[in-house]
Amino acid sequence: MIKLKSTREIELMAQGGKILAATIDMLREAVRPGLTTLDLDRKAEEFIRSHEGATPAFKGLYGFPGSICSSINEEIVHGIPSGKRTLRDGDIVSLDVGVGFRGLFTDSAVTVAVGAVDAETERLLAVTQESLEAGIAAAQPGNQIGDIGAAVQGVVEAAGYSVVRELVGHGVGAAMHEEPQVPNFGKPHRGTKLQPGLTIAIEPMVNVGGPAVKTLADGWTIVTVDGSRSAHFEHTVAITADGPVVLTRGSRGAPALGASAA
Ligand code: MG
Ligand code: MG
Repeated sequence: MIKLKSTREIELMAQGGKILAATIDMLREAVRPGLTTLDLDRKAEEFIRSHEGATPAFKGLYGFPGSICSSINEEIVHGIPSGKRTLRDGDIVSLDVGVGFRGLFTDSAVTVAVGAVDAETERLLAVTQESLEAGIAAAQPGNQIGDIGAAVQGVVEAAGYSVVRELVGHGVGAAMHEEPQVPNFGKPHRGTKLQPGLTIAIEPMVNVGGPAVKTLADGWTIVTVDGSRSAHFEHTVAITADGPVVLTRGSRGAPALGASAA
């Protein structure tokens, strides 16, 4: 069942989303060669908990051990933060973070370049971010879920990359994962109608190579089968009568393309 949110609930989600956006901005600044993904996890948890009423919502969700998901290079999503995973110059790291605030949830992710990355990787980050923005622009009241997926897919495939099929965006708010599913592929004018009060996480996962994925033996980390790099950008978006409102946009607006914190 789809749970539409009241204006008050969307306001509270925007407050939580602001904390989440600040967390992601902080992590983007922190990323540099030599840091481990566990270092990032600890910084994120401490930062989130420093805001009264805010909790790292991924911690313990379905048994996940981290406060963030950290996925390097060919890892797509759900990487477990580890003191043994050190960021190296030229890597990319996807940072996926959820925040709980006054009983409501928001969800956002970025992929960050570690030091200097090659041109193909910069293009991957730019295209994935562009596909997210296209998906957000399609999240208009009166449109349908398929319009979002078609917009994302159009940008990604025009660039020669592929969209992950097995993992999708989702409703978010009263729980981290709610109905409806929000695929990053689809056909216009299909699926659930977008109406004011619907809050969704739009989150393209884009591979340089083929779309196939597999899960590693840790039971969590999802990687590309062909070993190609993958990027992931995500925002929590409220559908309003005036159009889509991004609840997790950072103070810097859209993250800089291919930005490096070095
Ligand atoms: Mg997420
Ligand atoms: Mg999500």
